[in-house]
Amino acid sequence: MKIVILGPPGSGKGTYSSRLASRLGIPHISTGDIFREEIKSGSELGNSISSYVSSGKLVPDDVVNAVMEKRLSKEDCKNGFILDGYPRTVNQAEFLDRISKIDVVINLNVPDEVIVRRLSSRLICRNCGAIYNRITLPPKVDGVCDKCGGELYQREDDRPEIIRERIGIYKKEVAPLLEYYRKKGIVLDFFYESSKSGEDISPDKAVEMIIEALKEFSN
Ligand code: ADP
Ligand code: ZN
Repeated sequence: MKIVILGPPGSGKGTYSSRLASRLGIPHISTGDIFREEIKSGSELGNSISSYVSSGKLVPDDVVNAVMEKRLSKEDCKNGFILDGYPRTVNQAEFLDRISKIDVVINLNVPDEVIVRRLSSRLICRNCGAIYNRITLPPKVDGVCDKCGGELYQREDDRPEIIRERIGIYKKEVAPLLEYYRKKGIVLDFFYESSKSGEDISPDKAVEMIIEALKEFSN
């Protein structure tokens, strides 16, 4: 299955994508991860995009498209993939249509208050970057990374007023993209069942729900 996943910051997009990928046996392809690796490796590509990435600006479409065309032509993409962070513009979506056929676009719908609550309780490992949550995904030992023993910290921009601002920016960015895919009839809207009660659901439960929804979608 060829999947694109869309969701605001704090929707769990990264977590769900990697879990879904291993459940479905397809690669999880994150443009953010690819770009950060390129920058770290000091490649020519990495050098040319580092100023965009470090300032949070979009990398030019032709660069992103070329990188993705190369990545999607690899053997492991034959049976499908989950794209996380691509496409981000209609121009990229049109390019993607020319090189591949997307089956479904998973659109994660999360109420703003849930995002604010989640992100303001998010913890990140200073050493390995692993992500925890004081409420939904607490580390075994308070303040310490399960994976590497590193120190956990809270991101500077994980503050309510900044989070609301980031949500607003995301909504503006994603609107034309969603409209593009809705016209094609391939958007699978995923709503958090428990958001009505105001409680959050675990990543495991959410992934199970998404897998069920995908089965129905492909029928
Ligand atoms: P963020 O959600 O903060 O944008 P990501 O990890 O998705 O984080 O991406 C990191 C950076 O990589 C972005 O800020 C942007 O500079 C670049 N980037 C990622 N995906 C794309 C894309 N599809 N088009 C253009 N730039 C992108
Ligand atoms: Zn760690």
